Amino acid sequence: MSDAAERAKILAEYDERMLACRQGQHRWPHYSTWNWKVTLGLKRRPIAYRLDMECEVCGKIAHDTIDANNGDRKRTYTDPKVPEGHQGYRIPRHLDVSRSDLRLELVHRIATRAEVIPAKGKAS
Ligand SMILES: [Zn+2]
Repeated sequence: MSDAAERAKILAEYDERMLACRQGQHRWPHYSTWNWKVTLGLKRRPIAYRLDMECEVCGKIAHDTIDANNGDRKRTYTDPKVPEGHQGYRIPRHLDVSRSDLRLELVHRIATRAEVIPAKGKAS
């Protein structure tokens, strides 16, 4: 399969929840539900705070570690699970799929559901 054909196939079959998040942003749970963990060091002083958050739309998980001294944050992710045989969250880099490509795929899918707004200054 050519890169162009592979790219088109992946976009056409890409999970809509992951598409929605990847074209914009994830939706993390409300902060009041966060389940923090603290790592204690000498004299039981906090060294780091850790938090795992799962996106409410696509299921991607963010793992945050906040340095208790300077507030720096390190974040890693676990990709959402997809059914066997389906395209995973990651898209091969050589296919060069951008956020704009993902947005276009999303708007193509929702086009028939979108509310029609007449263009300004034109008779309808
Ligand atoms: Zn998400």
